[in-house]
Amino acid sequence: MKTNYKFHKEDKITALTGAGISAESGIKTFRDRDGLWENHRIEEVASPVAFSKNPEMVWEFYKQRYLQLAKVSPNSAHFALKKMEDFCSSNFNLITQNVDGLHQIAGNINVLEMHGSLRQCFCSKCLHSFEMKEIDFEQKIPKCDHCSGNLRPNIVWFGEMPYEMEKIDKILENTKYFIVIGTSGIVYPAARFLSIAKYFGAKAIEINLEYPINSVVLDEFHLGKAGILLPELIEKWIT
Ligand code: NAD
Ligand code: ZN
Repeated sequence: MKTNYKFHKEDKITALTGAGISAESGIKTFRDRDGLWENHRIEEVASPVAFSKNPEMVWEFYKQRYLQLAKVSPNSAHFALKKMEDFCSSNFNLITQNVDGLHQIAGNINVLEMHGSLRQCFCSKCLHSFEMKEIDFEQKIPKCDHCSGNLRPNIVWFGEMPYEMEKIDKILENTKYFIVIGTSGIVYPAARFLSIAKYFGAKAIEINLEYPINSVVLDEFHLGKAGILLPELIEKWIT
């Protein structure tokens, strides 16, 4: 596989990951061909309106997603990004749209989970946060120990503001390489990050199973599975 780049420890490097990087770990992507997320229409389970209309069903969905995490592990693409962070330490930023926590399990420390995490929830009334492992799933709608408000998964739903946006803006302005892995480029605001980084002078690289919709702004595109391509590419970039 051909790449034009060599990275140096002092280079600022950013990766943006999406559901595709976890596909080889056995977690389904969001927009599999049927446009459903694990058999649910996304608006049924990923919006504040859905939660207020039917909190039991929304909880059941995220409970299943959370329980699935016990059965999955990071794959070689996650581990390749850990290698990247070992190489350039705090000059490497990992922004993820994923909520599965597999990057941290692979050993990455500097991870910005812009859409939240399946491993946490918080009280919709007093905002106190809880680890999902503390939650008694016998309750159909788990309640807050402090104020008995309804807990909700710590997931950024459609119409809500993603986390870490100020930090992300600064990162995009300063990155020398911007690497996009396994994301459809459909969900905003992450879909805009590539053109922002490009605007500020970054080289843009993408790895995906399908040809991207935004190919004009890419400097390099690698077609195929992240678990196969990313370890080879990173090896070439850092040696
Ligand atoms: P998406 O499902 O919309 O797109 C997945 C992309 O990954 C597609 O472009 C597909 O071609 C590509 N892909 C699939 N398998 C791949 C592989 N093996 N190697 C490389 N590329 C591969 O995902 P998105 O853009 O991340 O948007 C999904 C939203 O849903 C996110 O906001 C996320 O929070 C949520 N979500 C998260 C998870 C997770 O945490 N693992 C899973 C499903 C959905
Ligand atoms: Zn509370």
